Amino acid sequence: MPQITVTVDGKSISTEGSVLKDVIQNRRAVAARIDGRLLDLSAPLENGQLLETVDMDSLEGLEIVRHSTAHVMAEAVKQLFPATKPTIGPATEEGFYYDFDRDESFSTEDLEKIEKKMEEIVREDQPFIRKDVSREEARALFREKGETYKVEIIDDLPEDVKTVSLYEIGSFTDLCRGPHVPSTGYIKAFKLLSVAGAYWRGNENNRMLQRIYGTAFTSPKALKEHLNFLEEARKRDHRRLGRELELFMFSEDAGPGLVIYMPKGGMLRSLIEDFEKRLHFRKGYEIVYGPNILRGRLWEISGHMDNYRENMYFTELDEQLYGIKPMNCLSHILIYKSKVRSYRDLPLRYFELGSVTRNEKSGVIHGLLRTRQFTQDDAHIFCRPDQLIDEITAIIDMVAEVMAIFGFSYSMEISTRPEKAMGSDEMWDLATKALKDALDKKGLPYDINEGDGAFYGPKIDVKIKDAIGRSWQCATIQCDFNLPERFDIHYIGADGERHRPVMLHRVILGSLERFIGVLIEHFAGAFPVWIAPVQAIVMNITDAQADYATEVTKRLRCSDVRAEIDLRNEKIGYKIREARLQKVPYMIVTGDREKEEGTIAVRDRSGEQQTMTLDDFIKIVKDAQPVI
Ligand SMILES: [Zn+2]
Ligand SMILES: [Zn+2]
Repeated sequence: MPQITVTVDGKSISTEGSVLKDVIQNRRAVAARIDGRLLDLSAPLENGQLLETVDMDSLEGLEIVRHSTAHVMAEAVKQLFPATKPTIGPATEEGFYYDFDRDESFSTEDLEKIEKKMEEIVREDQPFIRKDVSREEARALFREKGETYKVEIIDDLPEDVKTVSLYEIGSFTDLCRGPHVPSTGYIKAFKLLSVAGAYWRGNENNRMLQRIYGTAFTSPKALKEHLNFLEEARKRDHRRLGRELELFMFSEDAGPGLVIYMPKGGMLRSLIEDFEKRLHFRKGYEIVYGPNILRGRLWEISGHMDNYRENMYFTELDEQLYGIKPMNCLSHILIYKSKVRSYRDLPLRYFELGSVTRNEKSGVIHGLLRTRQFTQDDAHIFCRPDQLIDEITAIIDMVAEVMAIFGFSYSMEISTRPEKAMGSDEMWDLATKALKDALDKKGLPYDINEGDGAFYGPKIDVKIKDAIGRSWQCATIQCDFNLPERFDIHYIGADGERHRPVMLHRVILGSLERFIGVLIEHFAGAFPVWIAPVQAIVMNITDAQADYATEVTKRLRCSDVRAEIDLRNEKIGYKIREARLQKVPYMIVTGDREKEEGTIAVRDRSGEQQTMTLDDFIKIVKDAQPVI
């Protein structure tokens, strides 16, 4: 073997033609990068190569580990259930999956068996062996094995692809580009999580496959942390809590992605809406409402027809095309245009709790987080260019105030011009600069999200962080020089001439549906007192206090405390347990003593109990209302 020299991670290494795996010390390296390409550590070395190792603890490395684990899972499945046909198995953001075609469904016991078999394969430290073969050879191989999906994948490759790579571990051969970890022993910690149906190639006309989800980490500790996180997220899942707490429902009869608020969810939403109306009024906004459908012509002027059509629904009235609004902007522009505006009238701030409808693919609909119809706490501000920075700053302050009230921390990013956009570069630069200047002026940090702006202008996105560290999009502030131009709106300046106002589109909570979903998960259903749909449940111990409990409930409700009554002939312990499951902030017990003294025994969610007068309790509830 001739002596060759390669550079690995900046160090020069002389070797006799062996593979990278043998010449590096780092046992946590799982692959190598050369000229931006990823290679197996078992790839043959060539003289003069400049290589960088990829550590399993890097994002890229973890992805390789997870993808390799998917192969191990497929090997285990093939060993246990030989008739199964494997299809594809990629890594995902949180783990990996592999889709299989098998007549019988995989049961929980099957998953356990597969996991055991995978552990064996990992213990055996089977090497991943790469073989480059002609596509004909690969096709013949998979055909012989009856793996029709692999044959189909090969047949669909572009004509100029002459060779394909196969990877063998143990007795299992898979078609794959690679790279993979050098051997199965590199897999340190994994867990299979669930099985779900998935159509071959995501097409519902194709056969339904079984997708086994799993996850892998580079240490048992990291895996354990992730599993704990999943368990916590499962407990908080707003779809489950929404059912259990009777907040909202979806109905197949109504249609997918369409929320139906049940009485408690309806109360929750209306409390948030009332809060927002008060808040906006105080901040100098005016409340308006626009219709849900507007003439097609208007959507042409706005540019929605050209840039947003695929997200919209249309209908016909009097044989004319109408667009169902996906945004609330247009009515607000019409209000602005309804009379001549002077520079002294500006800024004008129109606020609408506006319900919008957007065509979301059925695959992305997800509880309250992604719906086809939702309500935005939307506002449009029309201002003079010299007022722009102050207006943006005021919105940023409002976001800070609202997030503090709900108890969220958040981060901000600026999204710039997307590919599909309207307006000149100059307008975009001006608008983007205004957003940056406002954040800089406040000394707030932000990231730049290239190409993620709305089609009519750049935006500041606010991402809130929930109790278990997940982040959610809520507020956005968009700066728009485009629509004022398109609708030819103006104001009369101090010089008596016509000038173009700037328009800001902004939401604070964003979609009320999504925000409520996030609130449910953040608080795990135990809402703060001021938005709890039911704030107190009044209970009697025996029939002897039924009248008193009824009286107490009446008085609380007359003082705007959202109290309910539980007079059922059940043990008090049982009633308390049920109220706790409903996460009601206060349980009020009225026994003989309380009846006699005219007091109530108040028990909070932590189990703390205190006897007090009704007035004291009413004060506690009132004090929980945020001051704005
Ligand atoms: Zn692979
Ligand atoms: Zn708008």
